[in-house]
Amino acid sequence: MRTLKTFALLLLLPAAAPAQGAATISADSIRTHIRYLASDELAGRGTGTPGNVRAAEYIARLLKGWGLAPMGDNGTYFQHFTVVTGVRAGGGNALSAAGRAIVGGDAVAAPEADFRPLAFSKDGTVTGPLAFAGYGITSADSTYNDYRALDCAGRIVIVLRYSPDGSDPHGALSRYSAFQTKTRLARERGAAGMIVVTGPADESEDRLVALRYDQSFSNGGIPSVTVRRAFADRLIAATGWTVAAVQESIKARGASVAFPVPGVTVTMTTDVERITAPTANVVAGIASADPSLKDQALVLGAHFDHLGMGGEGSGSLQPDTVAIHHGADDNASGTAGLLELARAFAPERSALGRSLVFTFFSGEEMGTLGSEYYVNHPAVPLEKTAAMINMDMVGRLTGKALTVNGTGTSPAWGALLDKEVADSSFAITRVPDGYGPSDHAQFYGKGIPVLFFFTGTHPDYHRPSDTWDKINYPGEERVVRFVYRVAVDIDRAGERPAFTRAESAPAPGGDSRGFRTTLGIIPEYGYSGDGLKVSVVRPGGPAEKAGLKAGDVIVTMAGKKIVNIYDYMEMLGKLKGGDKAELVVMREGRQITTTAEMAGRK
Ligand SMILES: [Zn+2]
Repeated sequence: MRTLKTFALLLLLPAAAPAQGAATISADSIRTHIRYLASDELAGRGTGTPGNVRAAEYIARLLKGWGLAPMGDNGTYFQHFTVVTGVRAGGGNALSAAGRAIVGGDAVAAPEADFRPLAFSKDGTVTGPLAFAGYGITSADSTYNDYRALDCAGRIVIVLRYSPDGSDPHGALSRYSAFQTKTRLARERGAAGMIVVTGPADESEDRLVALRYDQSFSNGGIPSVTVRRAFADRLIAATGWTVAAVQESIKARGASVAFPVPGVTVTMTTDVERITAPTANVVAGIASADPSLKDQALVLGAHFDHLGMGGEGSGSLQPDTVAIHHGADDNASGTAGLLELARAFAPERSALGRSLVFTFFSGEEMGTLGSEYYVNHPAVPLEKTAAMINMDMVGRLTGKALTVNGTGTSPAWGALLDKEVADSSFAITRVPDGYGPSDHAQFYGKGIPVLFFFTGTHPDYHRPSDTWDKINYPGEERVVRFVYRVAVDIDRAGERPAFTRAESAPAPGGDSRGFRTTLGIIPEYGYSGDGLKVSVVRPGGPAEKAGLKAGDVIVTMAGKKIVNIYDYMEMLGKLKGGDKAELVVMREGRQITTTAEMAGRK
């Protein structure tokens, strides 16, 4: 009944309060914004780079010119926050080996020359006897097992990089070659630390592993370093083995080679510093004068950051090319659309129902970090936020095909979209789910109805070739005018749109594809402490029923210690719907134990 009532109200609206602003939204202005935002000058707007700052300043300058109110920190348009952009080796790294078995006496490794910490190393100092654990792999069916007969408790283990299948990503054992898997296996067997060495069969040059930050894997749980072969060979010389010989023997026998190294004690200290960068969302508003609705907000959002110069770990689909990733469609298009909406609504304050908040997010490409920050520091309290509209990649309209996500997040959306689609030339694809790989998911996770507009993916996605000349400007003009009308409908509807949980496709990341079960959370990807930090608890899911809250850190799950997201995913892979999993979580310094009944996944 609620849907019908809302429908009736909406039908009356155009006559009562005509919305003129749509006509002012123009392809020419959109082109101007996109040409600047996606220009070489802004160098891909990577979060934490000068080009990103210039984009934010451009947005703020326009908002100010149109008379929108600043809603950022201390009366400015900027909402500042900090992101981790990388890591570097600190001054405290050390690696040495002592014992009667070392040829030529005790060995001290020189940082950068002989060894380097790995980016995911836990900082700390460990000492222990040495063992060589082949590739550090245990296959799921145990047909290949480097740990079968090796006691690792308290030891420092040397493992080869890659797998017996070499660096071929399609080999059967290659899927175990990721550092997150090797670290977990070593840690689960009680190893105190891990040393990674690259064998000559995989890389002829004797190089150290690069220090490269991976946002989703920032804590392996034990100190870990990479060493040169020459140094590793010296440590194991008394056993008669060399790194090359271990590799050759595994290949020849098709089975593991693993052994303790008697008489050698290794001490290592790792010190990995995080490089942080300041960034900011741009937030501005138009306050309504409507006495009954003005306290409520409608949030309109788009992210303005992109991948910068790309490169490994940036999210680029051409990671071996360091080049400007222009991000014209992703998401200069949504940014330009949001600017056009701000310009269109600016003179219409007296016609507004709810107040409008325009949020230009940074940090989206690093994992919706700007919108995550916003929902935890909202300009208008979330209880008073009626809905959120997101635009991400709206510049490549083909024919009539517009995708609208989040259509299942409020019973009001169906009729509202029916009405607007009937008046438009669009054929929309409705996706009920409120989660998805963009900023609206953060709002949906907080119980706010969302709509997300998207014109579809294309071969230039996350590549340097996503350039301004490939945008369909008349098409984007139509999309933004459509979004304008939808925003007007939501803004002026007498009844606040109710929130409903949409049926969910698998969420990005932790609750990942391929698992039979879910805990109903989204992890906080930027978290680097021990455990899995919960960013979003899905309403009605197992975690919520077990009393979990956003901000909780899961440290034990079903009896297994959880150090990072990969431990958690490993556990998800072992559980099935209906299983009861005991959870130990840390909340504000207190330890809480609860039990979740895992939900099945279709
Ligand atoms: Zn993107």
